Amino acid sequence: MNIHEYQAKQVLKAYGAPVAEGVAITSADQAEAAAKQLPGPLYVVKSQIHAGGRGKGKFKELGAEAKGGVRLAFSIEEAVAHAKEMLGNTLVTAQTGEAGKQVNRLYIEDGADIARELYCSLLVDRSVGQTAFVVSTEGGMDIEEVAHATPEKIHTIAINPEAGVTDENVAAINAALELTGQAAEDGKSLFPILYKAFVEKDMDMLEINPLIVMENGHLRVLDAKVSFDGNALYRHEDIRALRDETEEDAKEIEASKWDLAYVALDGNIGCMVNGAGLAMATMDIIKLYGKEPANFCDVGGGAGKEKVAAAFKIITADPKVEGILVNIFGGIMKCDVIAEGVVAAVQEVGLKVPLVVRLEGTNVELGKKILNESGLAITAADDLDDAAQKIVAAVA
Ligand code: GDP
Ligand code: MG
Repeated sequence: MNIHEYQAKQVLKAYGAPVAEGVAITSADQAEAAAKQLPGPLYVVKSQIHAGGRGKGKFKELGAEAKGGVRLAFSIEEAVAHAKEMLGNTLVTAQTGEAGKQVNRLYIEDGADIARELYCSLLVDRSVGQTAFVVSTEGGMDIEEVAHATPEKIHTIAINPEAGVTDENVAAINAALELTGQAAEDGKSLFPILYKAFVEKDMDMLEINPLIVMENGHLRVLDAKVSFDGNALYRHEDIRALRDETEEDAKEIEASKWDLAYVALDGNIGCMVNGAGLAMATMDIIKLYGKEPANFCDVGGGAGKEKVAAAFKIITADPKVEGILVNIFGGIMKCDVIAEGVVAAVQEVGLKVPLVVRLEGTNVELGKKILNESGLAITAADDLDDAAQKIVAAVA
């Protein structure tokens, strides 16, 4: 689950991280009062959308000359003018895709005088099985670009979970970021704080780009992007409360209501499967035969007819889907239940694209009978190979 920058900063501030004062607003009428709460004379007006690259982004409705999604203002009047221009418009950044995202919320922040822009993130480094800091002196820009062009400028410092962030770790991070004096002092408190927040709140990723050294020598978290491990949200009521459903894929929200694992992808074959392993195998074999999955929806082990029907509807709601492959191994899950769910969903929403169903396992004969007797245009497949070839041929 992702949250907005201003929320991420609230979370980090509660742990003691240095962030600017700021006020979130949802209408331009609130801009003046918000700016008046800040010391000035420099303000930053920041679009709150679940995507990065806002500063270099462009508003669809405004001309190419218009400023981007993060703007400096040198007076309250200017901040208000920016807010009026930005709110309600669609920001397109390198991370939003062409459609862009509507800006429904702004964060007006006390502006900082920047001496240096650095990069600092925390993630789970699976290669060493530890949480690691990934840092670079090249902050404020596209870190993928830095990693590609100058990989030697990216430093990874893994943290031993038993020891936590040690003095040696802090020294290594400070050195990698070339922090000295006051900034290095600030690093001694900031890096352990970030690690504590990351671990306690079950974050998947914490990215501060940029972390800045200000003209006064202090560090400040200037931007913050946080995502949380969805499987741990149940134990963080405070974090769940930060969810902004308007930023999320409507199909993923619907799927989470049904406790379905739904993942949107780029191809054109929709996949209904049970179990993560079968999902992977199904996607691999579709690719093997030359097509790409549009999504997959994992109905899990013990789904009932209604859940299967919900999954089917979610898959067909994706306009990219030109064909559907249902690939179920009935172990705990029974094939007749799957068949009933598919038939019920097709009867309700219709079937506008080819559907190939491969069932195997418990009650497979009964499942096939239900499909055959439904009178619907469903292609039955014998095994995974056959199923993949049939659906790929059908959408070709
Ligand atoms: P992003 O474009 O979505 O990553 O948004 P950021 O929050 O990283 O802001 C983009 C850029 O705006 C930063 O890299 C800074 O160069 C600039 N910026 C943001 N806040 C301030 C500020 O307080 N003072 C100054 N001088 N520049 C800022
Ligand atoms: Mg940034």
